[in-house]
Amino acid sequence: MDTLQQGGCWNCGRKIDLLDSFCRYCGKGQGSHMPWYYGHFGIIVLTLLAMGPFSLILVWKSPRLGTAARWAYSAAIMLFSWYAFMKLYDLWQAVSSVFSTSLQI
Ligand SMILES: [Zn+2]
Repeated sequence: MDTLQQGGCWNCGRKIDLLDSFCRYCGKGQGSHMPWYYGHFGIIVLTLLAMGPFSLILVWKSPRLGTAARWAYSAAIMLFSWYAFMKLYDLWQAVSSVFSTSLQI
């Protein structure tokens, strides 16, 4: 499962030295040099602040998450997206009802 310590790049899969911080072929950071948005913290922050459901891409690309964690994150992100969508919908309805009542006056 965990390809990080086996001398292969998590991104392109080619053999690299265990001590390499960056892949010689695709240039992706390895181990602690891995891009921050593939970590747990990065995925959570990006989901909440920027990407919403699009962070699912990160979840399924990230080499840091196992299969169970991917499903857990996927479920959480979908739930959050749905919740955010409902909140926006409520807000939109509230705003449009304010406009329609003010038009009637
Ligand atoms: Zn690579």
